[in-house]
Amino acid sequence: MAVCPDAPTLPPISTSFVKGATCVICGKEYPPDFLDTHYVCPDHPHNEGILDIHYNYTNASFRFPAGTEPGYWRYRAVFPLPLDAPVPPLLTGMTPLYHAEALARELGIARILLKDDSREPTASFKDRASALAVAIAKHRKAPVIATASTGNAAAALAGMAASMDMPCVLFVPKSAPAAKLAQLQAYGARIILADGPYDLAFELCMQACASEGWYNRNTAYNPAMAEGKKTVSFEICEQLGWENAPPTAIFVGTGDGCILAGVHKGFKELKRMGIIERVPRLFGVQAAGSDWLAQAFEEKLTTPEALLAKAPINAHTIADSISAGLPRDRVKAMNAVTQTGGAFIRVSDEEILAAIPHLAQKTGVFAEPAGAASLAGLIKAKASGLIAPSETVCLLVTGSGLKDIASAQTASATHNPFPPLLADAKNLSAALQKVKNTL
Ligand SMILES: *Cc1c(COP(=O)(O)O)cnc(C)c1O
Ligand SMILES: [Zn+2]
Repeated sequence: MAVCPDAPTLPPISTSFVKGATCVICGKEYPPDFLDTHYVCPDHPHNEGILDIHYNYTNASFRFPAGTEPGYWRYRAVFPLPLDAPVPPLLTGMTPLYHAEALARELGIARILLKDDSREPTASFKDRASALAVAIAKHRKAPVIATASTGNAAAALAGMAASMDMPCVLFVPKSAPAAKLAQLQAYGARIILADGPYDLAFELCMQACASEGWYNRNTAYNPAMAEGKKTVSFEICEQLGWENAPPTAIFVGTGDGCILAGVHKGFKELKRMGIIERVPRLFGVQAAGSDWLAQAFEEKLTTPEALLAKAPINAHTIADSISAGLPRDRVKAMNAVTQTGGAFIRVSDEEILAAIPHLAQKTGVFAEPAGAASLAGLIKAKASGLIAPSETVCLLVTGSGLKDIASAQTASATHNPFPPLLADAKNLSAALQKVKNTL
């Protein structure tokens, strides 16, 4: 990390509430100030020793859940950031929690809730991680913030960085869709196209951050990213009324597994602080063509050793935001599912595409493929008896349908019950008759 001439010691990210961090692989405990100089446990090759930050929950719960700051900053007592550090102005978190009554009736489930993160500032769940990343980078006086990403994480970082006037450098595979690159460029991000897959982009970002002293936001490397993502669990409980029981099951589209890990962490912390009594069962929904975690779950590879030994797969799915040949947060994601009695669910691209208009028509919420995957997973889980009719299920909608119009077009070509009708002044009444026949 580069140091300003007049700031010989970097402002620490450890607050009085951070108690330390634990390595997910070897379980080694590190003190708070370790986080000021390290991202991961140094005892493992390939940066696999991802850290899990923990807090002095007795003290933190004094300020929790009573915060009054906008959006998810109300929970900053359990962030690795001093309480008075400036944060991006874009309103992050506190997205709507809807009761999807028509969908619940249709699927025969007591209650279905939708947590609509298509409403985040850059239109995906990734804002929860990137807003905190930019706040930490600013606080630490980093000259630049960088990340590797195929899309939403980069867009989130670009938007949050722009809102705090901080330069950002994004490493994206050269195969990234033009539409995704357009959002990054509109925000004024510097873009380096990796001449290879996401893994190369990740490596290039690691090297650049090390040599240039840039702050590194890489997912499942920077331990603060799961901290931003855990807030969705706090919000669900706050929006239901703290005194009421949380949902019995949560469904989330899963690629690297960092969202799943964050959701798990959030509920565990609430339990730790005595705010809830039990953690919901967590369900990671994977595309059939990108099902590394679903395979590992079926093969009962649940220990870190087994998860580190399993080879990557060749991932391909229309749901690009959950495409991951080797999920980087696999250890935490597997813990999230096995420790809560949940499961990984595999759904086909066809089922994911069908879920886009299904969700939109039953709830009014328009999701990108990875965002609609949670509904596809619930339908499958209900059919196989994993979800009982009496449950309260929450679906995370992680990204907006406007992120991927091409997939929405494909989906509506086969799932639109009302194909558009061409009309002019002469045949309007014929067209209206056809419309009326469908009403
Ligand atoms: C990143 C992302 C996911 C999956 O998150 P992981 O942490 O990679 O499992 C799901 N949906 C959307 C829209 C995303 O951008
Ligand atoms: Zn370790």
